[in-house]
Parts: sequence; structure tokens; C-alpha cells
Amino acid sequence: MSTVSKFTKEYLAKNKAKFEEVSEYIFNHPETRFEEYVSSEYLANACEQEGFTVERGVAGIDTAFVATYGSGKPVIGFLGEFDALSGLSQEPNKTAYEPWETSNGHGCGHNLLGTGAFAAACATKKYLEENGLSGTVKFFGCPGEEGGSGKTFMVREGVFEGTDIALTWHPSPSNSIMNFSSLANYQVAFKFKGISSHAANSPHLGRSALDAVELMNVGVNYLREHVIPEARMHYAVTNTGGISPNVVQAEAEVLYLIRSPKVSEVDDIYKRVCQIAKGAAMMTETEVTIRFDKACSNYIPNRSLEKILHKNLHEAGIEAPTEEEVAFAEKIWNSLSQGEKDNYLDLLRGFGYSGDGSEFEGKYLSDSISPYSDKDGVLPGSTDVADVSWVVPTAQLTASTSALGTPLHTWQMTTQGISSYAHKGMLRAAEAMALTGIQLINQPEDLEKVKQEFQAFQAKNPYTCPIPKDVKPSKLNQ
Ligand SMILES: [Zn+2]
Repeated sequence: MSTVSKFTKEYLAKNKAKFEEVSEYIFNHPETRFEEYVSSEYLANACEQEGFTVERGVAGIDTAFVATYGSGKPVIGFLGEFDALSGLSQEPNKTAYEPWETSNGHGCGHNLLGTGAFAAACATKKYLEENGLSGTVKFFGCPGEEGGSGKTFMVREGVFEGTDIALTWHPSPSNSIMNFSSLANYQVAFKFKGISSHAANSPHLGRSALDAVELMNVGVNYLREHVIPEARMHYAVTNTGGISPNVVQAEAEVLYLIRSPKVSEVDDIYKRVCQIAKGAAMMTETEVTIRFDKACSNYIPNRSLEKILHKNLHEAGIEAPTEEEVAFAEKIWNSLSQGEKDNYLDLLRGFGYSGDGSEFEGKYLSDSISPYSDKDGVLPGSTDVADVSWVVPTAQLTASTSALGTPLHTWQMTTQGISSYAHKGMLRAAEAMALTGIQLINQPEDLEKVKQEFQAFQAKNPYTCPIPKDVKPSKLNQ
């Protein structure tokens, strides 16, 4: 074992209880996008206690912060999320659905994500400190990942400027490198305004905003045939104009989420959707206002950085789960639907897994590290890490924190969120990220290679933030 490896492993083992406490605290205070006041403050305070200097409220977002240690180059960044989801309330360490008082829950494991990235930042800082090296470690407290595009706003406001690399991870049932791109998206609300009237005695005097919403949706459903097959258009009617059928609805609103592999494609489709909205308004003699909510770009993988991260995930290694852990994971597995069990490999592929699944046969928890592949693929989902990857070379890994087959955004994911194997996975991710940060500090030639790959992309693909300048982050309940 190399000295760096020994140092990192020992540091994380020694501070295990502290990091587990941070993860549990965030788990116990589940807060949704841009309202993570308790979690953000707790994590920011933890950074200060570790000797970082913290700047709170960056990018005009109350719950976004940057913790910095050291000076000079290179600047190694770690991205930490800590937001929860509504409707995923669940007691920890249970094998059945048991919601608790709050309606929110950590169904995507961001209590682990934020803490693992924080632990990686602490280990890297400690290494710089003990070896008297120059270099800067930054921990980015990134709120509002779930439907908020927090990082996209942070990129727009220049928060990542001067950062040489960004590392992060995501909880998952497997240990792998997230080697794929992701879908870019725009989320936009279309609000129609008409004229109310008695629906029986004077319908001719009314102009229905709800009709406009319906006609818009019909128009978009016809548009589907004439966009690229990879594009996705989803909508939710967020205001139907009331519950009275005997009133012509004077107001109605529909929220659209438009996705495609490239942000430029999303932009083209968005313009066509806007035309349809205007057409619906014209047909119904209503007025439409378009409110841009949020957006994120497609993710740009950095193969050189991914290879280093994969090597370091192996360096961190993986210990066999205990009998109790396997028994708990088996119960979680048994709670999954047949479809979830049958398709668990598809789920893993969504995290970058490219094997045939033979190493998982007869298992409930992953005890292996997936081979690395740099084959191009697109995740059928979106992430705001993508916008960081356009301005800073970025790599992401997954570490196993849940039973095989566990889908994200379920009570099963929430209930495993502070289990012993979730915390082991969290510290494994921290170790691989810290080893990568330290390697790039110690070996500038490796960093140079990562930067060259990034610069070659950037020269041909300058970044434009997909969120217009005047759009502000919006909370869930607005
Ligand atoms: Zn997530």
C-alpha cells in the first residue's frame, strides 16, 4: 500500500464516527430544494470546525456555500449535495414502508453524497497540511439538485472559476465510474389568462385558460413525432383554474420539462413548444406568459480524470459485507417488485455499469468494482453536475450504499440511508475522491493531461448557461 493510500485510509477510519454523525444529522433534517437551511448551516459549520474558511450564500442562494482551505494551485474541488425529496418520509433501517412525521425524506441519499464529498475534502486538506504542500481544497455546498439546478445557477454566477478539477459521487447499489453523458433539460411554466364566466348561462362571454392548456398539450403531443426520438417532453398541469366545472376557468398553468441529449436540441424544441403555446392562446383568445424555471446542460465526461478515479476506487478497495448487512439487504430485495428485481441490471447500467451481472449472482449487496468503460452513453435523466463539467474537468463515481435493485427516490432508498453499509460506501467514495485529489496535487503531469482533454473540448464548445440571466432559483412550494 502506498503512503498516500495508508494515510487516507487511516484518516477516514479515525474520523469515521464524525462523518457518520454528519450524514445522520442531515438524514434527520430532510429539506427540499433551496430550503435546506438546517442541513446547509450544519455542513458549513462542520467545514469551519475542520479549518476551512466558509463563504455562505454564494450565487445569491441562501443555502449555497463554498468552504476553502489552503492557497495556490492546484485547486481541487469536491461537490456536495444535501437536499431531500418531498413525499419520501421513511424511518431508517426498516424493511417495510413506515413514514415518519415530516413528509420529506432522503430518497436519493444526498445525506451520504454531501458528507462523502465533505470527508474527501477533509482528507485532502489534512494531507496538504501534514506534508506542508501548497494547493487549495474547495468543498462546494450545492443545494437544490432535485429539480432546482442549483449548480447551474452557481456556474452562471462564476462560483467554480479558478477550480482545476471537480469530483463528486452518487449513492447507488454498485461501485463504478459514472462514465456517461446525461440529458440536458429546460423546465418552463406556461400560464394562461382568460375571462371567467358562468359556464351555462354565458359561456360565450368566457375565454377558457384551461382550454388553452389542453390545446397546448394536444399540440405538443403532435410535435412528438417531429422531434428526435431521444427527446422527452413531460408536463404537469399545476393550475387547472379551480374545481368548479360551472365556471369558465380564467387562469390555468402547465409546467413543462423538455429534455434531449444536447442542450442545443432542447433549445430548438423549447422554441417550438413556445410557438404551440402562443397558438393555443390565439385559438382560445387568452394570453400566455412564459416563466423559465430552470435548466441544465448535458454532462461532459473527462476520460482522463475518470481513469484516475477508477484506479483510485480500486485502491480504496471494498470489504466484504457482514452477515447482518446481507440479511438486511435481502429483506430490502424481497420488498422490491418483480419488475424491479428483473431489471436491476438496467438500473445499474444507469450508473455506468457495463458488465453482464455474473458477479452479482446470488448477492444482495455489491462486493465488487465494475470495470471501467469509456464507451459513449447517455443517462436517461439529468443532473446539474453537468453544468460544472462544461467549465471544470469533472468526474463522478458511485459507491454501493443500497441493496441491489434499489431504485432511487423510493422508501427503500430512504430507509437504507444511514445503514452501516451505506456509511461504508460513503467513506469508500470519499477515499477514492481524496486519493484522486492528492494524486493530482502530487503529479502535475496527470493534472495536465486532464486539463488538455478538457481544453480541447472547450475550444470547440464554449459554454453558455442555459438559464437566462434574470431567472432566480425557485423553491418547491412556489
Ligand atoms: Zn440524487
